[in-house]
Amino acid sequence: MSQMRKDIFSGEWVIFASNRKNKPYNYKRGSGIEEKEDNICPFCPKNEKMTPPAVFELKNSQGWEIRVFDNMYPALNDYEFEKDCDSFYESFDGFGIHEVIVDTPEHTMDIANASEEHLYRLLCVIKQRLDKVFSNKMIEYVQVFKNNGPYAGASISHSHWQVLGVPVLTSEQEAAFKAFEEYKAKTGRCIMCDMVEHETEAVKRIIKENESFVSFAPYASRQSFEMWIVPKRHVQTMRELTEDELKSLAGFLKEMLTKVEGIRKGISFNICIQEKAKSTKDGLFHWYIRILPRIGSWAGFEYATRCFINPILPEYAAEFYRKAGN
Ligand SMILES: [Zn+2]
Ligand SMILES: [Zn+2]
Repeated sequence: MSQMRKDIFSGEWVIFASNRKNKPYNYKRGSGIEEKEDNICPFCPKNEKMTPPAVFELKNSQGWEIRVFDNMYPALNDYEFEKDCDSFYESFDGFGIHEVIVDTPEHTMDIANASEEHLYRLLCVIKQRLDKVFSNKMIEYVQVFKNNGPYAGASISHSHWQVLGVPVLTSEQEAAFKAFEEYKAKTGRCIMCDMVEHETEAVKRIIKENESFVSFAPYASRQSFEMWIVPKRHVQTMRELTEDELKSLAGFLKEMLTKVEGIRKGISFNICIQEKAKSTKDGLFHWYIRILPRIGSWAGFEYATRCFINPILPEYAAEFYRKAGN
């Protein structure tokens, strides 16, 4: 078992995963986005033996188009740790599911340049993996995310996503679900539905909308140029999106990622898919995607206070995005 320990002051969970220090890193250290010359990519076709066997493959006539396997260096299920019996603190014998989705056989594919059809198939695979991982009775919350670029935490440049199912409710989710619950108790409505309505009326933080989705720079963005993509319909999980909505999302996501990449060449960013937890009251949560460009990093003040200093007002970010990539 690996270990999750709760920070006694903040209530935040920390995952201890000593095997993560052995994972490969294929960017040149200190070089920005360049890869090492002697790089052998474990995610390229013909190198499948370097990774665990696939738990799912989407195939076409040339081979696999999307490949899913268990992470070789899982953040959870690390068996090096002994059970912790210190009763002063709260800890948890970590059980989790950690999968990798390699979303293209092409080593240098940039997600914003993928076709809409390919992105649609990828979204269908993500939806299927969410279903699968949530179906494990030990799993409380599933985070799907993409680390795009070394400054966003990627260690392998070949495009991929990760699915991390955890047995506890994490503090960020707990705080968000509480906000949904309190707003609902006070008004009888969904805070996200009301926020989308408010932002649409206010206009200045809106980036774009189509028939099913709207994107905006959130009012209190922690990161510079943070962007949220929210369905107009009240859906609490990606698994409730219809085929037409997923197709619409594929095109919308491609357009939004092109705008993000317009900030500067080779920008690193994270994409986080925000799901309801298993124990979240039915109908309470409103599903959305966060895109977090990585400009600057947490500094002492942010670590000490969790109060972020953001030099870019969301109103400016939205204005930049409205013009970018057109
Ligand atoms: Zn590769
Ligand atoms: Zn809603």
